[in-house]
Amino acid sequence: MAILHSFLSLLVLVLSLCPLVHLSEVSANNVHHNVKRSQIRDELGPLLSKGAVIVDSESGNLTEATKRWQVFASPTFNAVVQVATENDIIQTIRYANTHSIPFLAVNAGHGEIKSLGNLHNGIQITIRAMNKITINGDTAVVQGGASNLDMTTALWNAKKYTVTGTCECVGFLGPALGGGHGFLQGYYGLAADQLVEARVILENGTVVTTSNTTNSDLFWALRGAGHNFGIVSEVTTRIYDVPSADTWYYENFVYSGESIEQVFGQLDKVKRDMPAQLQHYAVFFRSADIDPVNALISFSIMYNGPSSEAEKWTKPFRKFKPLSNTNGTYTYPQLSGITGNGINDAICQHENLNRIRYPIYLEGFKTGQGKAVFDLFNKTTGQYPALSNSLMLFEGLADQGVEAVQLDSTAVPLRKYFVLASPVVTYKPDATLDTVAQDFGRNIRTTLQNFTGSTELHAYVNYAVGEEALESMYGYRGWRIAKLKTLKKQFDPQNAFRWYAPIVQSAFSGY
Ligand SMILES: Cc1cc2nc3c(=O)[nH]c(=O)nc-3n(C[C@H](O)[C@H](O)[C@H](O)COP(=O)(O)OP(=O)(O)OC[C@H]3O[C@@H](n4cnc5c(N)ncnc54)[C@H](O)[C@@H]3O)c2cc1C
Repeated sequence: MAILHSFLSLLVLVLSLCPLVHLSEVSANNVHHNVKRSQIRDELGPLLSKGAVIVDSESGNLTEATKRWQVFASPTFNAVVQVATENDIIQTIRYANTHSIPFLAVNAGHGEIKSLGNLHNGIQITIRAMNKITINGDTAVVQGGASNLDMTTALWNAKKYTVTGTCECVGFLGPALGGGHGFLQGYYGLAADQLVEARVILENGTVVTTSNTTNSDLFWALRGAGHNFGIVSEVTTRIYDVPSADTWYYENFVYSGESIEQVFGQLDKVKRDMPAQLQHYAVFFRSADIDPVNALISFSIMYNGPSSEAEKWTKPFRKFKPLSNTNGTYTYPQLSGITGNGINDAICQHENLNRIRYPIYLEGFKTGQGKAVFDLFNKTTGQYPALSNSLMLFEGLADQGVEAVQLDSTAVPLRKYFVLASPVVTYKPDATLDTVAQDFGRNIRTTLQNFTGSTELHAYVNYAVGEEALESMYGYRGWRIAKLKTLKKQFDPQNAFRWYAPIVQSAFSGY
């Protein structure tokens, strides 16, 4: 357990110009705006609800209000509007449009993609306070600022649950708008697949309701490419009864690199008959306490059922000489904490770190693939100690529920895979390391892809680094991107929502 704990704690280990200066800013897409900082407070403030708060460099702590999980290529903001109502969002969007100020919805601040860094001197619309969850039988109405922890807690108290992301501090809708992987997806599909209705505030401040029967094309796009179309103030999502005897068996193994081929060979066998109850995570990491010289492998199995049933999956991994082997039985809400994804875990802290991720979906493992990546990880993190908090993740989430949803019914482009692999290159901001760090991430992804023998890179949009082709994030069938572009023209003709994995890059062009 001590080893597990040291692994878990390791698991991831401005603007201030003179007040009242007249700002004349040019954003990345040549949008000019001339607005005094205090002007936003004076002019927009009276239009907002009592619960709304405006933070800028003269009022409140702008640095704190714009803190992000990963800081490489961050957006910059002159003001933050912490909204309390849907109308606050509408007023802020209208105000921003009047002054040609770019804006971005921010919930829990885990957005990682480099395209966010194209937004300069904008208004951050913080929706985190809008986190009300109302349960109505088999559905829940969820405001746009709820987090995964808000969801799990509110639903569990009513003996319900639904698919959310696995990490407690992450927003609920940020993942869902790009798909949304979670522990329950083997049963029910992605978080996006649970949505039955969404209220969206469009770029001009109008509100539309979307569902399979109303604005159905926009509803299609919201589930997979949703960050590109508006600010979702509220959704209705399916929820499920928690079965009466619901327990999760968890077993963790920590191995030295010598076991890599056995572990990944066995892992590939899991794929043959992986049941919906099973999830597995492999992580390459470094811990000086366990091994000061070489990287290590952590491998965990989470099984929804008793240990006797999980035995079939866990037993083979005990043969490969783990340095530690721990286990326990938990409830569903405890899973995030036990896997290092809890609200108090290191992974949930916004610590001024560059965390650059290069995702790739894999259908399985080829002989030598795990070892090639482990060797690269071991070598690079050994050569550059500043990168030693980096992680290589292989998230194995059952996909029966995901595959059961018709492929063309949402903008999620991929529903069959075995593992979501991603190096998370982690280091304190240091420009002299940026090239090495990015090359490290790229090399790992290229190595993984070369073993697949395919030229198509499938990257989860919510993990994308921002260097991927549109097809990698939104699908290789031509009609998908064409349809998304047509919908952009219709619902976001000024391309105001162009910061997070943009379908169209520039404002006013690209159509
Ligand atoms: C530690 C960690 C764990 C993660 N775990 C998972 C996981 O288990 N499953 C998974 O699928 N993904 C996971 N992700 C990826 C996650 O899906 C994205 O990072 C997601 O965008 C984060 O949402 P957020 O609200 O936390 O971040 P934010 O930065 O606040 O939001 C990200 C972007 O989403 C958009 N957005 C957010 N809310 C709204 C809204 N209401 N309306 C319109 N647009 C909105 C905005 O464009 C914003 O830039 C994880 C990421 C991290 C860093």
